[in-house]
Amino acid sequence: MSTLKFKKFNIEAYKPGKSKIKKLKKVIKLSANESALGMSPRAKKLISNKKFTLDKYPDGKSESLKEAISKSYKCNKDKIICGAGSDEVIQMICQLFLNPKDEVVLPEFSFLMYRIYTKIVGAKVVFAKEKNFKISIEEILKKITKKTKVVFIANPNNPTGTYLTKKEVLELRKKLNKRILLVIDDAYAEYMKNSDYVSGLDLFKNKENVFILRTFSKMFGLASLRVGWGYGSKKIINALNVIKPPFNINGVAQLAAAESLKDKKFINRSIKHNLLYAKKIKKFLEDYKIYSNPVSANFLFLDFEKCKYSAKFLYEKLKNKGIILRSTKDGYHINNKLRLTIGSKKENLKFLSAVKEVLN
Ligand SMILES: *Cc1c(COP(=O)(O)O)cnc(C)c1O
Repeated sequence: MSTLKFKKFNIEAYKPGKSKIKKLKKVIKLSANESALGMSPRAKKLISNKKFTLDKYPDGKSESLKEAISKSYKCNKDKIICGAGSDEVIQMICQLFLNPKDEVVLPEFSFLMYRIYTKIVGAKVVFAKEKNFKISIEEILKKITKKTKVVFIANPNNPTGTYLTKKEVLELRKKLNKRILLVIDDAYAEYMKNSDYVSGLDLFKNKENVFILRTFSKMFGLASLRVGWGYGSKKIINALNVIKPPFNINGVAQLAAAESLKDKKFINRSIKHNLLYAKKIKKFLEDYKIYSNPVSANFLFLDFEKCKYSAKFLYEKLKNKGIILRSTKDGYHINNKLRLTIGSKKENLKFLSAVKEVLN
């Protein structure tokens, strides 16, 4: 018998936020940063009422969706590429830019998919230390070598919730060698109301050596439909279009995404809801000496160092009550912390009373 040979990767497979608990039918999932308010009512209505022609291939170029994005974000349609989640755009960027032996510099606690796709194409991941769970420009610059091709940052970062200010992002681009691509992942930009923050897209619409990532999975509540997009120079976009899978975004997803951009009411409601509950929960947890990052995106990074109880203790107790948080031990290797997604009003209130019960 012959043995099939395939490549072996030194990769920890991505473990998504847990969504099921044995024996429990109904769980409260606060582990994957999904939208607290579900999807936009406008998008929901559209896809419930519409008769789709699912037997035909979708528009492989996602033209109407790109049109809607360019209108909504006041950016150039020809500089957009859509992906099956921003995930796929990260993958395509790695395929386009990286050869084996090239290096990618990542902040040590950055989003896991950057390291996974970098390794799959055979390039090397170089981690830059963070300072107090915040990206350090200095540490990134220290790790740059002749082999560095790409630097990825998520701003704000998942799972730490910290962010670089406008000034800091501009400083990073300025100090980074011009021939290195800076990828800024704006996954949570829609939630950000902090006055010193500006999204990557708003800072670098016309920069050749910056590439922006956006997603419909978070604020827009379309995580299951898999839609994200990238924004970069026409040169990069044209090259990405050559390697893009031909029909990567299904027709339902294209329509729902375009429609959800128009639902300003839903967007405003989501932002308000998030701010209200993020502040409330943060304050509540401080009574138990569980501290977190200043409110930024739709999640909190909970620190148990000063708390009587460990992160693991609360995680397990809440799990027994059907409430799932994200352990930052998996994948990120961060001890004694948890990531908590802001949920719906009902979910948040249940979370708060469960914490009370467990810790009092
Ligand atoms: C959730 C998340 C994404 C999202 O991914 P999709 O593939 O678009 O669902 C990308 N980047 C960061 C930092 C995230 O937290």
